Amino acid sequence: MRLSEQIQTADWKKEKHAPVIEAPETVKAGEAFTVKVGLGKEIAHPNTTEHHISWISLYFKPEGSNFTHQVGHFEFWGHGESTSGPNKGPVYAEPQVDVTVKLNESGTLFAMAFCNIHGLWESSKEIKVS
Ligand code: FE
Repeated sequence: MRLSEQIQTADWKKEKHAPVIEAPETVKAGEAFTVKVGLGKEIAHPNTTEHHISWISLYFKPEGSNFTHQVGHFEFWGHGESTSGPNKGPVYAEPQVDVTVKLNESGTLFAMAFCNIHGLWESSKEIKVS
């Protein structure tokens, strides 16, 4: 059995755990652009002390390469925890991030999200460098 076989995927329009990657279709080599990655664009995922998205990682695999690079790892720590009890806290981190990226080669962006109850979920988006 392999960990990669446990990673689920689905259409983010129908499945609240599938991460959404928003980025341009084409970018210029070496020029900064924004990648927006998160959950809940169509269907909100719960954000409670008991059930939440713990982290999202973003990766990039250049076309024709065997190797995948990690772009960033984003942890979400505020889920309503409090001395008054669960879900009574003052802060909630929503599972959404913007990251500024530069690419020198075309390839594929991958996002992986971890729900503390429902495990690992991935999605991908191709991006061309002109
Ligand atoms: Fe979940």
